[in-house]
Amino acid sequence: MREIASPQLAQRTTLRLGGTAIAELILDSAEDVARLPRRLRALGGQPVIIGAGSNLLAQDGDLPLVLVRPDFMQGPEVVGEEDGKVLVRVGAAVPLPRLLRFCAGQGLSGLEGLIGIPGTVGGAVAMNAGSFGVETCTKINNIQVASNGEILTATAAALQYAYRSLHIGDKKNDFIVLEATFGLTRAASDGISNCMRHNFFEKKSKQPVTALSAGCVFKNPTPDMPAGKLLDQAGFKGKKLGGMAFSSLHANFMINEGRGSAKAALALLQEAREAVRERFGIKLELEVRIVPCLFP
Ligand SMILES: Cc1cc2nc3c(=O)[nH]c(=O)nc-3n(C[C@H](O)[C@H](O)[C@H](O)COP(=O)(O)OP(=O)(O)OC[C@H]3O[C@@H](n4cnc5c(N)ncnc54)[C@H](O)[C@@H]3O)c2cc1C
Repeated sequence: MREIASPQLAQRTTLRLGGTAIAELILDSAEDVARLPRRLRALGGQPVIIGAGSNLLAQDGDLPLVLVRPDFMQGPEVVGEEDGKVLVRVGAAVPLPRLLRFCAGQGLSGLEGLIGIPGTVGGAVAMNAGSFGVETCTKINNIQVASNGEILTATAAALQYAYRSLHIGDKKNDFIVLEATFGLTRAASDGISNCMRHNFFEKKSKQPVTALSAGCVFKNPTPDMPAGKLLDQAGFKGKKLGGMAFSSLHANFMINEGRGSAKAALALLQEAREAVRERFGIKLELEVRIVPCLFP
């Protein structure tokens, strides 16, 4: 197991925010997985599994966190067929865009809606990331996870997923996704590429995709009541504080303008939440994960 002392969260998150954790543990074998619980006990602190850091808001300062990075980079590769679906296996650390390029090239349809999501495969599975009507977990055949030092396979039937969440039995956030096998449908490569291109341009026209952000910060209370609309109507579109801002393109994207801090981000989030609660009586839930955990 590789170990890095005092890793900087600002270098590991797309928001470029956050202080210093105790250590980062990088796993790339079954032996690393087996040794992990003991090493975590010795280090103390709260374990946080990290992928591309594209849905994390890390707090400032010295943080009582140990980052755990599953560095499984195998695949993507076709490993068989089941019930008319082509099975594609891929390691948790593989960037989602690489998986999507593979699918387009091989003529495998199902994940086109996930274009433009900058996370890893493991992060997309753990978050049940979704867009354009596609949710990651709906396309899973099985996943391999680590829990308490053991490696287990969970079939699609064992996954309990909802909007931006995945549980496996009684395990909420205490499993590490090591690899995923997706069940995809054969289709023409051109059609898949065109669909991805169309989705990407659509996304780019409505979201600040190149800014420093973690995507949408709040969940949509219901599909027909987007958090961005509520934030806009509450006056938060483009609102700035201490180097952080709600995007003027999409109010649910919080942006680091380059010199922001987690303190400013959290203050702005709280202010927005309070304003939406007062004006509409709706309590917005966070989609971005704050580490160490602060409020739900
Ligand atoms: C420009 C932009 C656009 C985005 N668009 C979308 C979108 O359209 N739809 C959407 O759903 N999201 C979107 N996001 C948010 C984000 O990219 C997704 O949530 C993504 O799936 C997170 O993956 P990650 O590897 O970065 O995970 P991280 O941010 O590193 O982690 C996110 C959460 O998953 C857990 N986790 C990460 N890896 C694992 C693992 N291997 N095993 C277990 N738990 C793990 C972490 O502990 C954390 O709780 C966007 C973000 C950005 C910056």
